Amino acid sequence: MSRNSELFERACKVIPGGVNSPVRAFGSVGGTPCFVERAQGPYIWDADGQQYTDYVGSWGPAILGHSDPDVIKAVQEAAVHGLSYGAPTEGEVVLAETLTQMLPSIEQVRLVSSGTEATMSAIRLARGFTGRNTIIKFEGCYHGHADSLLVKAGSGLLTFGNPTSAGVPAEFVAHTLVLDYNNLDAVRDAFKQKGDEIACIIVEPFAGNMNLVRPAPGFLEGLRELCTEYGAVLIFDEVMTGFRVGPQGVQGLTGIRPDLTTLAKVIGGGMPVGAFGGRRDIMQCVAPVGGVYQAGTLSGNPVAVAAGLATLKKLAQPGFYDTLTANTANLIQGLKAAAQEAGVPFTADHQGGLFGIYFSENVPTSLAAVSAGDIERFKQFFHAMLDKGVYFAPSAFEAGFVSVQHTSDITDATVQAAREVFANFK
Ligand code: PLP
Repeated sequence: MSRNSELFERACKVIPGGVNSPVRAFGSVGGTPCFVERAQGPYIWDADGQQYTDYVGSWGPAILGHSDPDVIKAVQEAAVHGLSYGAPTEGEVVLAETLTQMLPSIEQVRLVSSGTEATMSAIRLARGFTGRNTIIKFEGCYHGHADSLLVKAGSGLLTFGNPTSAGVPAEFVAHTLVLDYNNLDAVRDAFKQKGDEIACIIVEPFAGNMNLVRPAPGFLEGLRELCTEYGAVLIFDEVMTGFRVGPQGVQGLTGIRPDLTTLAKVIGGGMPVGAFGGRRDIMQCVAPVGGVYQAGTLSGNPVAVAAGLATLKKLAQPGFYDTLTANTANLIQGLKAAAQEAGVPFTADHQGGLFGIYFSENVPTSLAAVSAGDIERFKQFFHAMLDKGVYFAPSAFEAGFVSVQHTSDITDATVQAAREVFANFK
């Protein structure tokens, strides 16, 4: 028995499904998950000593590649002084200053420990600020596992064919209005009918939890206009896209200024850090200044903050995003060309260090279009690539991640492996 299988068997006895987050279980693609022993640059190694080129990157944080020496050093240096104090530290101030400098829409920010905490708190804040209850989210967008957001919520839930979680009382989602991504008319209608009840729109401004789906031209602009017109709060959930699609996330690419932004993943450099921030007048409603309660024993943890700061410092180096984009483009162009040579219906899209691959003729613009892709083909592709030492996300509903360490020799090797896999599809 392989060591991966042995560990998975043990894990399943003591951990539900053998994993601490559902998509890790390979539930939608089948097979035994890789138990990772170590990671370096673009590679991970599993418990059987097998090396993989990694396009999951810890689901986003590993933008510098794994185990970046400067990040590891920062963590080691911080850890020497103590792991957690439950009192403010200078590092938190510097991270908050850095985020407000890097993202102009963020005038004030509160640090938390995960993306889920960030979105959950931003929603509470939007409700507290507006005095309204209804929130709008979009089908296929995932904003973490808070009760009110677990409705038609993308990736993990889609993968398991379970659009809404058990254990969430209907009353808890009664104020969550779920609309189709990229359907601005539906949002307009909702505001016409209930404009004075809508506290906020929360949106993944590039959706990364139903594979990668871009906003249609005018969609985000329309959301911005409607929120302004009706006094609702526009929340960009940039947990995935923040510092990933470009130095200022989607708000930098589009020039659209949300009222609040949620962040996590990259800003912790692989450690648990999340954040929500935005307009000062809204952020001033957060306790202890205002009446919207929000707290965390480990919020702003000094070791995690050190990892985040060391990461953000490297992203600010000139040319960082050019390199990242070139790496991703090389992979995506190569995969598309290889599929075309083999006559396999396949397409792909990318922005910065984020990409989507689709076994369909066209890049999808909705959850329905992603679901209409050839999911069986994806599964076949996933396993064949894994056998060749390439680790893509184990679900057709997940985006992929490239780091600055995925240089052209590495992505070329991935493309060659894909060429061999596509040739066998005939
Ligand atoms: N928001 C988005 C867009 C995400 O992609 C995720 C996680 O993948 C979350 C929120 C939740 O973040 P976390 O898993 O850190 O709680």
